[in-house]
Amino acid sequence: MRNKTKRRISYFLFILVMSIVLILLIRNHGARNKAVSEQSSLPEIQAQQVSLAAMTPVQDQSPKVRKFPFPYEGMLAISSDIDSTSVAEFEGYHRFLNTKEETPYGKGLGLDIADSAWMYNVDNYSDQLDKEGHHLDYSMSYFQGMDPKTIKDADKIIHYFKVGWIDSLHTFGDFSRNDQQRLFTRNLAEVAWQEMKTSGFMPKVWINHGTVTNVQNFGAYNPKGLFQYQAGDDPKSPYYHTDLTLNNGIKFVWNSIGMSQFSYEDPLYPLKLRDGKQVWGFYRYTNDEVKGKKLWTWETHELPRQLNKQHLDEVFQKGKYSIVTQHLGKGYDSLVFNEKDVQALQLLKSYQDDGKILVSRTEHLLEYARVNHHIAYSIYQSEGKFYINLTKIEDPVLGGSVPTLADIRGLTFYVKDPGKYTILLNAYPLFEQDIQRNEADKTGSKSIGVKWFEPDYTDYTK
Ligand SMILES: [Zn+2]
Repeated sequence: MRNKTKRRISYFLFILVMSIVLILLIRNHGARNKAVSEQSSLPEIQAQQVSLAAMTPVQDQSPKVRKFPFPYEGMLAISSDIDSTSVAEFEGYHRFLNTKEETPYGKGLGLDIADSAWMYNVDNYSDQLDKEGHHLDYSMSYFQGMDPKTIKDADKIIHYFKVGWIDSLHTFGDFSRNDQQRLFTRNLAEVAWQEMKTSGFMPKVWINHGTVTNVQNFGAYNPKGLFQYQAGDDPKSPYYHTDLTLNNGIKFVWNSIGMSQFSYEDPLYPLKLRDGKQVWGFYRYTNDEVKGKKLWTWETHELPRQLNKQHLDEVFQKGKYSIVTQHLGKGYDSLVFNEKDVQALQLLKSYQDDGKILVSRTEHLLEYARVNHHIAYSIYQSEGKFYINLTKIEDPVLGGSVPTLADIRGLTFYVKDPGKYTILLNAYPLFEQDIQRNEADKTGSKSIGVKWFEPDYTDYTK
């Protein structure tokens, strides 16, 4: 009898101890989760606003905005269309472009070059895709074919979007057809955006793709011209989608019009759509023009024709923006780049290493240009110190917005004595580690700016 009671007590004690251990484990796990979430929501800027009311506004000597982040005198992006690219090809050439790893092309360049992606692929041309002999249906795409219930490379696309190796949507997909069928529908766009909102794959850059059966294209419609097939912005068309597309965050659009001009004072222009909406259009260099004939340079082995000394000097010496169109993964040789392509890319890297041209993914370049041209700010003075207070992006196309730290990355102001200045975002001071004070550039003026994005050489294929 006594033994039985003892057993009961020890059984009870055992349960009690185990419960306590379990409770502690759960609490500890919760605390760890909390710590992680607190860490990821670290404030971008300092928590305490300065009192502008106690300061004197400075009216007469507003500092000029420098055109590019210091020390650069130009900016260049490579905008790559994802046509005929397998996941393996994509990963192979981005290891060389973005990381500093040893690769089959030599040591990685560590440049910020992003790519595009699509959701569907119903291309029925029989082109070879890669060295293994796959065909176009094996191209990197989010869904299999046009079936949104079957996932293909979604995980890879979401991953590479989040780490910055993909920044553009090459329309909803490859709808090129040799039977002239128009397979795109508004419903496919609706389903795509639903999925994209859920997964977080939400690019701001849209690039038109292909020809007449790609009726989802928009931005250059002309009833008599080559682009009469474009229907994405026509509210009367079954292919209409720009209401969804613009509402879901697309800010910058390439409308299929190729340019032979290599660089621009401003890469952006207002683009009016047929549904009455407005979005930013942007220029891409796609071809040379020889005796009135177009010579397309947007193929991988044309890289030396695109990234040569003459073009790069033009960007650097004239202080321009350039967006260079490519189809980096289109070939099917075992190596995407040949020796001359590699040399052209290395030449580009040398312009960045020398502080001449900042190489940036397309989205960051376009955002920088937009904010650089439309930032509203005012200057205050107090006790010998000056404050540049950034308040609003007065965007005439997309409407006004309150800037975030990411929006103002690289923004630089000419000032006499950078040591006496600091930068505020709606009266909140930036952290010192985000501020950069610069010596005089070739204009003879010193400057203060917000630091550009930290370079990231991580090999995200691992
Ligand atoms: Zn394309």
